[in-house]
Amino acid sequence: MKIFINAGHGGTDPGACSKQKIKESDIASIIGLMLLNRLKLNGYFAEYFQQKESHFEISPKENQSGATCFISIHCNSFTKEEANGVEVCYCKDSKKGLELAQIVQKEIVSATGLTDRGVKAREDLTVLNRTKAPAILIETAFISNPNDLKLLVESPEVFAEAIWESIKKFKSKGLI
Ligand SMILES: [Zn+2]
Repeated sequence: MKIFINAGHGGTDPGACSKQKIKESDIASIIGLMLLNRLKLNGYFAEYFQQKESHFEISPKENQSGATCFISIHCNSFTKEEANGVEVCYCKDSKKGLELAQIVQKEIVSATGLTDRGVKAREDLTVLNRTKAPAILIETAFISNPNDLKLLVESPEVFAEAIWESIKKFKSKGLI
């Protein structure tokens, strides 16, 4: 069993930015590294990767890693400030991906109290389509919403902890 953690964006691509110029890539990296530490300290095999030039670097890395689970960490963003909440995407037609997404969605919503936007089947996300292991992409919260952003910035460990709790559940259910 090995968890591959991808912190979304990075290098030349900051992802979405808040009004205060906080970058999605930085928040994703902070949560991803916290998760990596929790996994390693508990004896799990885990690998962390954040792209330098393009998101096409991610799936080849994952394919070589022998991962049994792929988790990509992102923040959502929208032009209207009101949009808020948590959603987890999985590759359409992946039964395991759907199960993993449902577990993480529930854990993050219950740990944060943020709006439950539900899990989303996606066909268009390269990181979900080209990775070998069952894959999910977590839109932790909206960087464009003040309340969501406050939690992302002040308490990133709440997200890392919820994902870590989810991984223990994946394992106990034999999903990874
Ligand atoms: Zn993103």
